[in-house]
Amino acid sequence: MPTDTAIKQNIEQARQRITAAEERFGRSPGSVELLAVSKTQPASAILTAVEQQQYHFGENYLQEALDKIGALQACAITWHFIGAIQSNKTRPIAEQFDWVHSVSSLKIAKRLSAQRPASRADLNICLQFNVSDEASKSGLSFEALAALASDVEALPHLKLRGLMAIPQKTGDVNQQRAIFHRVKQAQQYLIDAGHPLDTLSLGMSADLEAAIAEGSTMVRIGSAIFGPRATTAH
Ligand SMILES: *Cc1c(COP(=O)(O)O)cnc(C)c1O
Repeated sequence: MPTDTAIKQNIEQARQRITAAEERFGRSPGSVELLAVSKTQPASAILTAVEQQQYHFGENYLQEALDKIGALQACAITWHFIGAIQSNKTRPIAEQFDWVHSVSSLKIAKRLSAQRPASRADLNICLQFNVSDEASKSGLSFEALAALASDVEALPHLKLRGLMAIPQKTGDVNQQRAIFHRVKQAQQYLIDAGHPLDTLSLGMSADLEAAIAEGSTMVRIGSAIFGPRATTAH
């Protein structure tokens, strides 16, 4: 694990990469949020990041996330769930998180809606759009996505914010951009269909520049901040 100093330097570097990409691709300054992905990292590493004014954190594994949310209650952290959702485990997600990026079915959305405490602000939702570099064979069509968006918007205690995608890794920047572009097109399709989405959760440590070039508003950065993860943890 990197030292506290290294984590802080890595956050500064990630911010600089975001700022540089915003400038280079004609994006407004500050239009891209840094989401620090803290899965497999201890609460102490998150605390170090908070000291560097990082307040948005993404977690993938529910139990581990709940432990850290409990331990860090004194911090003004905005928690994002970005992992696979099991339908029998939606309640703690609905109760404890501020955002969920990985909603891909109405069934899950309905459960989150029903289980979101009325005392909390609406749960921010991104629909996960599956894209692969073999064009877009898997996943929902734009039309199906729009139908899901309409259904989700009708549910109480949820606020539909945008789309999230996790493309297959490729080192080819043009390919990265082509895939991200497809997600941007999906967002535009939904906006044109009357869904006012303001969020595109796109880009990770290795491809954040390509994502920002194509319109990302939130990059999810793990290893570039906290160092490489142990691969066998889950
Ligand atoms: C782990 C993870 C990330 C962060 O990936 P890095 O390559 O470490 O930046 C981003 N998004 C999701 C959905 C993840 O699971």
